[in-house]
Amino acid sequence: MDPIYNFSAGPAVLPKEVLQQARDEMLDWHGSGMSVMEMSHRGKEFMAIAEKTESDLRDLVGIPQNYKVLFLQGGASSQFSMVPMNLLRGKNKANYINTGQWSTKAIEEASRYCAINVAASSEDANFTYIPPQDQWHLDPEAAYVHYTSNETIGGVEFHWIPEIAAENNIPLVADMSSNILSRPLDVTRFGLIYAGAQKNLGPAGLTLVIVREDLLGMPIAGTPTLYDYQIHANNDSMYNTPPTYAMYITGLVFAWLKKQGGLAVMEKINITKANLLYDLLDNTDFYHCPVTQSDRSRMNVPFTLRNPQLDGEFLKQAEISGLIQLKGHRSVGGMRASIYNAMPMEGVAKLAIFMKEFASQHA
Ligand code: PMP
Repeated sequence: MDPIYNFSAGPAVLPKEVLQQARDEMLDWHGSGMSVMEMSHRGKEFMAIAEKTESDLRDLVGIPQNYKVLFLQGGASSQFSMVPMNLLRGKNKANYINTGQWSTKAIEEASRYCAINVAASSEDANFTYIPPQDQWHLDPEAAYVHYTSNETIGGVEFHWIPEIAAENNIPLVADMSSNILSRPLDVTRFGLIYAGAQKNLGPAGLTLVIVREDLLGMPIAGTPTLYDYQIHANNDSMYNTPPTYAMYITGLVFAWLKKQGGLAVMEKINITKANLLYDLLDNTDFYHCPVTQSDRSRMNVPFTLRNPQLDGEFLKQAEISGLIQLKGHRSVGGMRASIYNAMPMEGVAKLAIFMKEFASQHA
């Protein structure tokens, strides 16, 4: 059977080798007589899995010792409230950059807890670009700066890290749900990074948080225990039951990334994959990509057909060719090809060939 390539935005494709290993270990992990799903999270077997998962991530990224790595539940959406609850630290205002639907959601949720200064927004152009930093209006009295490093729906990505003047001691916070580990990452530039796992890390159900230690321990009054980062940090993410199976698979993905050569290697591959699609989109009138060239996402490639009446036929023919889940987000229509770390080059090449052929057949 020809391979099927899955372009879903998330939950998304995982490395084949990871799934094969999980299959092989499904009923009996390393001679323990148990599936990972059946293990106590406090037993020696799962403790070993959790420790390796964290140390592989620390290795892969180069996470300094003064940062805690937390394995939580609740999805990236829970971080929309956990961030203000923990990082306001006596202040009552936060800076947000609005680059699309996910930043908008983060802003809406945070506004339940504090005043929001939207320091920059690309809403004026339907969120098709990243506002350059010289146009931002950061409030120096605000507790932190929040941005979304990759907008999964709009397909706009920061290819730079904002510079926040050190003297104001305002931590930078990023929602990296859809581009974490797609390139090298300098954690020291951030106070806090969070990501839902189900795009570039592993299965749904796990939420990763990397947070600088000195920001912990000052939650707002009334913060639920499970929403206090310090509680999770003090208990090595085992205050309550963590998402054990999702952590195990994510650990296999970290090991797989190390085997590929690490994040610099992944970045090169991701650039090549993305360019294959964007070059095609720019060299035809048949398709259109709405995003400003310099801010195009390497992970989520949105595009439309000039003739939207062909959308249904495009999706049908793509599926027959083994190219699935290409339908754009319900709010924007058109198509979206999500090409995370685990999407092989062959999948993107096959999509590019299909798109060229479809265009010539329907020109
Ligand atoms: N932020 C971004 C950038 C996302 O892409 C998503 C999920 N698509 C979320 C937040 C919300 O994540 P979750 O469904 O894990 O709450």
